[in-house]
Amino acid sequence: MRPAILFPLFAPITSLPGLGPKLGKLAERLAGPHVVDLLWHKPSGVIDRLAVGSIAEAPEGRVVTLTVRVDGHAPALQPGRPYRIRCTDHTGLMEMVFFHIKGDWLEKKLPVGQKITVSGKAERFNGQLQIVHPDYYGPAEETAPTSATEPVYPLTGGLNPKPLRTAIQAALQKAPKLEEWQDAAWIKRAGWPDWHTAVTRLHHPESADDVQLDAPHRQRLAYDELLANQLALALVRWHQRRLAGREIRGDGRLRAAVAAALPYTLTGAQARSLEEIYQDMAAPERMLRLLQGDVGSGKTVVALMAMLNAVETGAQAALMAPTEILARQHAESLSPLCEAAGVTLAVLTGRDKGKARQAVLDRLISGEIDILVGTHALFQEEVAFRDLALAVIDEQHKFGVHQRLQLAGKGRGVDTLVMTATPIPRTLTLTAYGDMDVSRLTEKPPGRQPVKTVVMSADRLEEVVEGLPRAIRNGQRVYWVCPLVEESEQVDLAAATLRHATLRERLGERVGLIHGKMKGPEKDAVMARFAAGELDVLVATTVIEVGVNVPEATIMVIEHAERFGLAQLHQLRGRVGRGSGASTCLLLWYQPLGETARERLQVMKDTEDGFVIAEKDLQLRGAGEVLGTRQSGLPEFRLADLAEHGDLLATARDDARLVIERDPELNSERGQNLRVLLYLFERDAAVKYLRSG
Ligand code: ADP
Ligand code: MG
Repeated sequence: MRPAILFPLFAPITSLPGLGPKLGKLAERLAGPHVVDLLWHKPSGVIDRLAVGSIAEAPEGRVVTLTVRVDGHAPALQPGRPYRIRCTDHTGLMEMVFFHIKGDWLEKKLPVGQKITVSGKAERFNGQLQIVHPDYYGPAEETAPTSATEPVYPLTGGLNPKPLRTAIQAALQKAPKLEEWQDAAWIKRAGWPDWHTAVTRLHHPESADDVQLDAPHRQRLAYDELLANQLALALVRWHQRRLAGREIRGDGRLRAAVAAALPYTLTGAQARSLEEIYQDMAAPERMLRLLQGDVGSGKTVVALMAMLNAVETGAQAALMAPTEILARQHAESLSPLCEAAGVTLAVLTGRDKGKARQAVLDRLISGEIDILVGTHALFQEEVAFRDLALAVIDEQHKFGVHQRLQLAGKGRGVDTLVMTATPIPRTLTLTAYGDMDVSRLTEKPPGRQPVKTVVMSADRLEEVVEGLPRAIRNGQRVYWVCPLVEESEQVDLAAATLRHATLRERLGERVGLIHGKMKGPEKDAVMARFAAGELDVLVATTVIEVGVNVPEATIMVIEHAERFGLAQLHQLRGRVGRGSGASTCLLLWYQPLGETARERLQVMKDTEDGFVIAEKDLQLRGAGEVLGTRQSGLPEFRLADLAEHGDLLATARDDARLVIERDPELNSERGQNLRVLLYLFERDAAVKYLRSG
């Protein structure tokens, strides 16, 4: 249960003064549904409002406040022309300028002869002062801005600064004073204010420095948020550790059989990772390990060996993939190896229905199936194992931490291995996984040729198309990726459909199309035709991004490459260069090409190392955007900026670890206060791991 002291902060945003249903909707879209979300809506800058004594003293370009007398109104004579109000003081003349004014309300509000206060940006036009759309105007004294420095907030269409500011101030009024949850010595050494002071300062900046990320109150708030994140993860982990694990030590016979059937030997990195995994599995605690490896680094076979280790003891293993295509592909590539070792593998996805599905479920509970490969359909309640010992989760960032535990709940002392093909910068790994143990496949299987990456203007699209027939005659296969514009799947689809049509016209029938709106079986059918060589070119939206393996594909064309994030470009490029043939990636960009986009494309040209690319991505975009946070399942931070507050994250991790070691139930005085912190940042799910939570 959320502590009562926080209730006011979790009231709906629409309960704040000035935010009716309409503005409330907008504010909700901008910040979030609760009052607390407005507290986290941080200013992007400040206005330094200068009070000046006279018109003559108002400096050009500054935001000023001054008192003047209304001298005359000049309404717009034609639509589109400005409405002007002439004002004077003892030093001269100025004008207030308004556009789109209807009726005579301004004349009523500011009658000629009245003394008024005006505030806004001072501009000089032919030497004469003018203020276009003043921020404030009204009878002198009455509407004078209260503070010299005001926060400027990010806005959304239809929501003006004034009501937003009023609502945020009202939210601030509701912010309670809270008991300090930070370590007293640490907060003192850092020189940080208490929470209430910090959040107040956030919305009452005293200077431009106050909106900088390294201002003490900003650091404090960032640290609060990071600590909540790390503490939540530490609790989950501690909980999992506390549950009994089991010692899994296979006799190696199945692994030997598979090794003999493999057409290659494992790389050093694969062997090392496996050693780490075997050790974890043999330990009496539950394994919670992350296997990070670039696209094509050979994670699948590592997963298989780990699963066989479990199967050798008579137990079962599960491998969960984020999509239907991937699950089926895993099953397909693993089946022959499993057969060679006499291991039974089955697939279960949302598409399996009726009798076939029931048959799999029956064979699973009876123990006939050794390894089950599937999608999140594996989470379903009816899916019951006879004895699940290892859960492998591929592309984990699409699943949440809690889903992971759900699968682990389907057996006794289940070990969990999480695999991710998206290289994640170290800092982000920490936020998403806490201090999970990590194995990294830093080395690619031998025989891979580097992918030649060419960055070119889309003006040369014609050349690219002209070059394709020859490449196709040489047996090469081509991916042609059209971008996914998040706001409009419709537009995307249109772009891909159009490209498909034009390429068909030029290259003939053997051009396929795959996109997110297609049904599973349709997608699989197209993919299968491409894999089998019945299609030479596959036009795709980014649905091919994840994992699909067609070693014969050697050309990757990415249209509108400037719209993609680095991680995405890297993932896409990873679809080629998987076989022994030389591969090319063509990054086609359209104008306008921004500075950051240009840099991204340069990074792609310079390196193929996913870990380097991931770090660059973090630098160029800021953590919030890396990997497209929302779909990635990585936590979104409101106050912390990992590009800037990365050091604080490591401290928060250590802090959280220490807290849990000493006071795992958060019962001490600080522990009680930390519970409030968890609720404040809506890490409620973690609190349920506390006995008296
Ligand atoms: P990932 O899942 O990490 O993207 P995969 O497991 O799909 O990569 O492996 C990519 C390809 O590399 C597969 O065709 C696989 O058979 C091959 N492969 C894996 N390990 C090795 C190795 N040690 N030597 C040669 N080829 C390998
Ligand atoms: Mg894979």
